[in-house]
Amino acid sequence: EFITKLERKIEAIRPMNELMKGGMSLEKIANLLYDDMDTEDDSLVEEYQILEEKEVKYECDCNSDRFYRGLLTLGKEELQKILDEEGEIETECQFCNKKYKFEKKDFDEILK
Ligand SMILES: [Zn+2]
Repeated sequence: EFITKLERKIEAIRPMNELMKGGMSLEKIANLLYDDMDTEDDSLVEEYQILEEKEVKYECDCNSDRFYRGLLTLGKEELQKILDEEGEIETECQFCNKKYKFEKKDFDEILK
């Protein structure tokens, strides 16, 4: 019963990122979720507990290898074509805007 109520509540409130943009702390959001949560049987209501507090920061875990492997999926012919035309391939991570450049020699193994 409690879980069903909690699930309904989560669906009903605004998305987490909107609440946070509006200046709501995670603790306030948790309070909001637990607000009027009492069920017929109060023993079903589980109290939440803050176990740890950490600062939230944005970090992208992209790396050159990931883009390299992505490029390989284009296939030999396409890769060769781009390298012949452009001389190099530049990719950009759409999350953090980091750029990764690849040259012909990076594909020597594959394009021989
Ligand atoms: Zn990135």
